Amino acid sequence: MATTLFTSAAGVFRGNLHGHSTHSDGQNSPADVVRLHREAGYDFTCLSEHLWTDPRFSAPTIIDATAFDSADFITIISAELHCPGKAHDRDGLWHIVANGLPADFPVADSSETGPELVARAVAAGAYVTIAHPEWYSLTDDEARSLAAAGAHGVEIYNHSSAIEAGRGGGIATLDLLLNEGDRVHLTATDDSHHVPGDAFGGWVMVAADSLTAGDIIASLKAGNYYASSGPDFIDISIDGANLDVGTSPVDRIILAGDRHRAEFVAGDGLTTARFDLADFNSAFFRVVAIDARGQCAWSNPYWMDDLG
Ligand SMILES: [Zn+2]
Ligand SMILES: [Zn+2]
Repeated sequence: MATTLFTSAAGVFRGNLHGHSTHSDGQNSPADVVRLHREAGYDFTCLSEHLWTDPRFSAPTIIDATAFDSADFITIISAELHCPGKAHDRDGLWHIVANGLPADFPVADSSETGPELVARAVAAGAYVTIAHPEWYSLTDDEARSLAAAGAHGVEIYNHSSAIEAGRGGGIATLDLLLNEGDRVHLTATDDSHHVPGDAFGGWVMVAADSLTAGDIIASLKAGNYYASSGPDFIDISIDGANLDVGTSPVDRIILAGDRHRAEFVAGDGLTTARFDLADFNSAFFRVVAIDARGQCAWSNPYWMDDLG
């Protein structure tokens, strides 16, 4: 009998986990951020404003934009958390994305460390991800320290960092943590500051019971979603030793495992691939689908010992 790892069959919700408005250093009003995402076909977005004490780019309070919610579109209370102690950042600050925070989550003080801030956001119920590792040269030890503090995932595609700085990636950080046994997820986001110019380039597709912040956050924590800059996963399932993948039309479907282990299937307008896991000697795998424009869908990692 086949085991479903992910399916879009029951519906998926498209959302942006990382973006900014005039509440911090973004150029769009909160109302415009919401309207533009709804018009672009999104189901939810997050005004993850810089939460810090520097008025040049941050605000000391979180914005609650849920007044803009409607039956078919929601906002999830979020922030990009900052505190001192990060190497290779202009202001020496950590950047940590937290989705599903309480609106009264306090700004860090100057003595709080990055790992302490992650742990505090996790304890407050948030889904916490390591922001734009490539953009600000996150070191391996910094990544390890945030994962050890409970960070749920790594932002492996940050659209504004990609198109404005050529530094949008995060796969190296993700795979380092996975190879060391940290069971972290991956996200793609926009980190938008001027919608639509730097928006609609990286998102998540979440399989959730309903379009509520609680159900979306629960599905994120369960890893029941994928990340994309273009293509879609229809389903990912296991039948015996076979891994079956269904996608929107793409040119390549890749099975990536630990170390540099990988296999791929290539073809014009490919929509399915089957991989034999019996010989794929790896602690985990994740699937990447790449379309003709080079845009990607990235599945979350799956661990062999969870699959039996
Ligand atoms: Zn940032
Ligand atoms: Zn940001």
